[in-house]
Amino acid sequence: MPTGDLQKGTPIYLDYLSTTPCDPEVVEVMLPFFSQHFANPASSHSLGRNAAGAVRTARKQIAALIDASEDEIVFTASATESNNLAISGLAPLAEAKRRRIVTTQVEHKSILEPLRSLDAKGFDIQYLPVDRQGRVLLEAAEEAIGETTFLVSMQAANNEIGTLQPVQQVAELAHKVGAIFHSDAVQAIGKVPFSVSQAGTDLVSLSGHKLYGPKGIGALYIRGGASNTPLEPIIRGGGQESGLRSGTSNVPAIVGLGHACELRRSRLLDDLHRVAQLRDEFEKGLTSRLPFVSVNGDPNNRLPGCSSIRFDGMRADELLANCPILAASLGSACTTGTTAPSYVLTAIGLSSDHAYSTIRFSFGRQTTSADLAIAINAIASAVGKLDQ
Ligand code: PLP
Repeated sequence: MPTGDLQKGTPIYLDYLSTTPCDPEVVEVMLPFFSQHFANPASSHSLGRNAAGAVRTARKQIAALIDASEDEIVFTASATESNNLAISGLAPLAEAKRRRIVTTQVEHKSILEPLRSLDAKGFDIQYLPVDRQGRVLLEAAEEAIGETTFLVSMQAANNEIGTLQPVQQVAELAHKVGAIFHSDAVQAIGKVPFSVSQAGTDLVSLSGHKLYGPKGIGALYIRGGASNTPLEPIIRGGGQESGLRSGTSNVPAIVGLGHACELRRSRLLDDLHRVAQLRDEFEKGLTSRLPFVSVNGDPNNRLPGCSSIRFDGMRADELLANCPILAASLGSACTTGTTAPSYVLTAIGLSSDHAYSTIRFSFGRQTTSADLAIAINAIASAVGKLDQ
C-alpha cells in the first residue's frame, strides 16, 4: 500500500534525511515518562532514582549502537548542540601554537557556523575540498593536518548527497599529529554500521529524530568520558551531564532516543538492504523514463536511503511544486528558504543551474515500491507539463 494519500492531506514522504517519523514503539515507551514516571532524575528519592535508572538504560542503549560505553554518552537537545559543544567546547583549550581546525567544505551549518565564529577569533580554519562524488580528498587532508592542528571535524555521511566519508583514514591522520577527531555522524548512525572504536573517533554527534526517535534530543559521544577529553560547557547551571550540559534532563526524550537506538541495532542491516534496493529501483525507474536525469554523489559509498537527482534544464522548485503528491527536498531541507545554490552541490563542482535543478529524495522504513511507482509517474508527468 502506498503511504501517500493527497485526499487525506498526506503526500508520499520522501524526505527521511530531513527527519524520520518517531517509531510507534518509541512513542509507547516514552509516554509513561511524561506524567507517570515524571520525577527529576537528579532527585535523591526513590522516584528520582527510578528516572535516573531509565536515563542510565538509555545511555547504555545508545552506547551499544555505536560500540561505546555508557559513561561516554552526554545528552544534548539536538545534534546542532552536540556539534556546537564539540567545537566551541574544545576551542578554549587549544594551545597558542595549535590553532588550526581542519574540516570539510560540505559540513552541516551546525559545524560551519561555530567555526566561522572561531575564525573571527583568530583560529586557522581549513576547509577540505571534495571530489565530484563528494568524498574528501585524502591527499588534501594529509597536507592540511599538521603539527599546528588541534581539531579535525569531518562528517560521516553527507545530508544532501549521502556520500560516506573516509572517517577512519582521516581520524588516523589527526591522531598521527596529536589532534582530536570529531565526526558529525548524524546521518550515518542507525542507517549504516558505525563503531566509534573502529572509526577511531574521539567525539561523535548524533540526533534522535534522524533515527526514528523523538526530536529535541541529541547526544555527544566523548571517548573515555568527560574526564578524558575536557570540554568547556556551552550551557552552564546545575551541572547535569558531568557538568557539560546543565538543565533538567529531558527524560521522555532520552528514554525515546535510547529505545530508538535499541531498535536500530536490531533492524539496521535488514533496513539497510531493503532501503538501498528501493533507492536503486527508484533511480532505475526514473532514469529509464527520463533519460536526461542524473544522480549526484558517490554510487558506491553512500547512504542507502538517499537519491540526489539532477533534472538538467529544469528548476527543481518548479518541478516539486508540480508534484504535490510528493514530500521531498530541494538540496537540503535545513537550508531551504535561502536563495543561494547549495554549497554542497557547488563543492562537488555543479554549476548554479545544476544545483538549482537538484531534488533530494530520501527513503526509509515506511517507503514502499508502490510509493516509488507513484512518485516516478508524478515526476514524469510534471516534467512533461513543464516541458511544453
Ligand atoms: N548534522 C547533519 C549532517 C544533519 O543532517 C543535521 C540535520 O539535518 C544536523 C547535524 C542537525 O541535527 P539536529 O536537527 O538534531 O540539530
